[in-house]
Amino acid sequence: MKDRLTLKECIRITKRGIVILRKYCPGLAGGKAVSAVLAAVQPLLSVWISAKLINELAGKQRGTLIVAYVASVVLCNFLLLLIKSMVDRITEEKEAQMWNFFGMVFADKAMTMDYADLEDTKILQQKQEVSENLFMFGNGLGQLVWGMNSLVNAAASIVLSLSLTVTLFVSHTGTKWMDSPLWIVGIGVCVLLGGMANAKATGKENVVFEKWCKETVWFNRMFVFYEHELAKSPERAKDVRIYKQQKTAKRAFAEMKKRDEAVGCLLRAMATYPALAAAVVGIGTVVCWVFVVLKASLGAFGVGSIVQYIGALGKLSTGVQDMMFVLADNAVYCRHLQGLYEYLDIPNRKEEGTLSVDVDAVCNGRDEVYGDFEIEFCNVSFRYPGAKEYSLRNLSLKFKLGKRLAIVGKNGSGKSTFIKLLCRLYDPTEGEIRLNGVDIREYDYEEYLRIFSVVFQDFKLFSFPLGQNVATAMEYDKEKAEQCLVKAGLSQRLESMPKGLDTALYKDFESEGVEISGGEAQKVALARALYKDAPVVVLDEPTAALDPIAEAEIYTKFNELVGKKTAIYISHRLSSCKFCDEIAVFEDGTVVQRGRHEELLKETDGLYHALWTAQAQYYEAG
Ligand code: ADP
Repeated sequence: MKDRLTLKECIRITKRGIVILRKYCPGLAGGKAVSAVLAAVQPLLSVWISAKLINELAGKQRGTLIVAYVASVVLCNFLLLLIKSMVDRITEEKEAQMWNFFGMVFADKAMTMDYADLEDTKILQQKQEVSENLFMFGNGLGQLVWGMNSLVNAAASIVLSLSLTVTLFVSHTGTKWMDSPLWIVGIGVCVLLGGMANAKATGKENVVFEKWCKETVWFNRMFVFYEHELAKSPERAKDVRIYKQQKTAKRAFAEMKKRDEAVGCLLRAMATYPALAAAVVGIGTVVCWVFVVLKASLGAFGVGSIVQYIGALGKLSTGVQDMMFVLADNAVYCRHLQGLYEYLDIPNRKEEGTLSVDVDAVCNGRDEVYGDFEIEFCNVSFRYPGAKEYSLRNLSLKFKLGKRLAIVGKNGSGKSTFIKLLCRLYDPTEGEIRLNGVDIREYDYEEYLRIFSVVFQDFKLFSFPLGQNVATAMEYDKEKAEQCLVKAGLSQRLESMPKGLDTALYKDFESEGVEISGGEAQKVALARALYKDAPVVVLDEPTAALDPIAEAEIYTKFNELVGKKTAIYISHRLSSCKFCDEIAVFEDGTVVQRGRHEELLKETDGLYHALWTAQAQYYEAG
C-alpha cells in the first residue's frame, strides 16, 4: 500500500468507493449528500432573512414586509427541517444496516475467490486487517460515508456563505483604506489559516490514531476470541472448564494495557494542537468582525447586514475548516480503501475453460454415453499452498463412470486431497486430471461441477429448514427431498420433526429449531448429495459419525442408494469396501495397490492385507 497518494489517485479511489456504496447500500451516499446540503442551507437562509428583517425593523418598519420576513423564517425553517428529518430517517436506517452490507462485500469476495486462497495465511491476514479496520473503526468505507457528508456540507456552506458576503466586499464606505482590496486578501488569508491549522492538528492526531488502529487489530481479534469463542461457544466450554484456557488469552490483555498507556501519553501530547488551531481560528474571527463592524460604522450597510455578514463569515470559516479536515482525512481513508481494493482485486488464478461437459447425457445416465466417460489422474503431484511437503506424488489412476471405486489408506495418505483435486477445489501442482482424455481445466467449471455430489468429511449444514438443506434451495421438490431423506435412513427422524421438511435445523435462527446428532447430520448430508442427483457420488468417510446399526443400514442399502451412479467411496472400515468394483490403496500420496477385495487380500505382503488383518484382529478381539 502506498503511503502518499496523489490527488488524482484519491479521486479515483473515492469514485470506486462510491460505486461500491451505491451497489451495496443504494441511496445511502445520495441521502447523506441531500441531508448535508439541507444542513448547510438552513442556517444561512435564516441568517439572510433575519438580516432583512432587522434592516426593516431598524429602517422603514413596513408592517407587511416585517410579517412576511417573520413568516418566511418560520416557514423556511419548518420546511427545511421537515425535509431534512425525513431524509435523515431514511439514511439513518440505511446507515444502521450498512455494516451488514459491508459484510456482504467481504462475503461476496470470499464466495467467488479461488478455494485455495481461502486457506492462504497471507490472504487471510490481509482480509483480517482490512475487515477489522472497517468494522472496528469504520476505516475505509465507513469514513467515506461520514466524510462525504462533511465534504458536501462544507462545499455547500462555502458556496452559500460566499454568496452572502459578496455585497460585504463590494459595498463602499468612501474611505480609501477601508475600501482597499487588501481587506479581501487579509480576510481570505485568515479563513484559510484557520482551516489549515485545523487540518494540521487533525493530521497529527491521525498519524497516532493510525498507528494505534494497526496495532489494535491483533488485540481486537483476541477480544472477539475471548468473548465469542472462549466464553460463548458450547464446544469450547468443556475445554475451558477442564484446562482453564482463558488464562492464556488474559495474558494478552495485560500487554494491551501497557500499549494503550503508551498511546494515551502520545495522544495527550497532541492535545495542544487543537488548542493552537482554535486560537488561530479565533484571531481570524476577530479580524472578520472588526472589518464588518468598521464598514457598518462608516455607513456601508445597516445593522441587519452586520448579522448577515458575521453569520456568513462564521459559516465560511467553519466550511473551510471542515473542507480541509475532510481533505486531510481523505488521504487516510483512501489508504484504507486502497487496502480493501487490494483484497477485492486478488485475481482468480484458476483457469476456467469453455468446453462443455455433456452433463445431460451423464446425468440422465444414458448408458451408451455414460459407460464411455472416464476420469484419469495422470502423474499428478500436489502441494498445498505454502506447504513444503507434497500431499500427492506422481499419482496415476483411471476409472470409468458407472463403477464403484473405494479409496483406502492410513490417515494423511492423501485420500481427501485426491477428492479436492477431483472437484477442482485445487489444481494439480504437476500432472493432469482428464475427463474423457481432456484436461479438466479446459471444461466450463460450473458444468464440470454438476457431475459431482460430494459428502465431505467436514460437511456443513445450515440452520435453515431441513428441506432447504437437502435441496439447497428455497423452492424445491418436496416429494424428492423426502425420498432422499428416507433413502439416507432418516424416515423415522423425519416423522418426529414437528414441521416435517419445514422444521429448522439447530436454534440459531428459530427457537423451535431441532438439534440433530452428528450421525443424523451425516444422513442429511447424504440426502443432500442424493437430491443433487449428480452422476458421480463421492462419499468421504460417510459413516464416520454413524452408530453401528445405522452404518450397517447404509452399507446394505448402498447399491440402492447410489443406483446407476458412479460412487467414489473413502473409508477406514475396509469391510465397507468389499462390494466395490475396484479398491485403490493410498500410501504417502500415491496409489500402491489396485484391485478387487479378494485379489488384494491375496497379496499377503501388501498394505491392504496388513490393514485388513489389523482391523479384523481388532474386531475379533472386540
Ligand atoms: P487423508 O484424507 O488420507 O487422511 P489428506 O488428504 O487429508 O489425508 O492429507 C494428506 C496430507 O496433506 C497430510 O499430510 C495433511 O497434513 C496434508 N494436508 C491436508 N490438508 C492440508 C491443507 N489444507 N494445508 C496443508 N496441508 C494439508
